[in-house]
Amino acid sequence: MSEIDERADALYDSAYIAGMKAGWNFAVDNDSAGMQAAIAARDGYLKVLAQPRFPQTYCSQCGRELGPGNEGVSSCGDHK
Ligand SMILES: [Zn+2]
Repeated sequence: MSEIDERADALYDSAYIAGMKAGWNFAVDNDSAGMQAAIAARDGYLKVLAQPRFPQTYCSQCGRELGPGNEGVSSCGDHK
């Protein structure tokens, strides 16, 4: 794992812990509306995760274009 990966993982963990703390505080305050508002404030920011990472992917063996996706394939046996 590269240093960049380790730093990214640490940032994800840091954000996760911050979210856990924020969620805990909403629960302690019995503030369901506040929690829903906090979640709604991030609405739309996760859309990018639902989109394919690359507009075009390929087969490394034959070079065929396989369309949008997160990764290509290594051999023809992995596509139609
Ligand atoms: Zn192929």
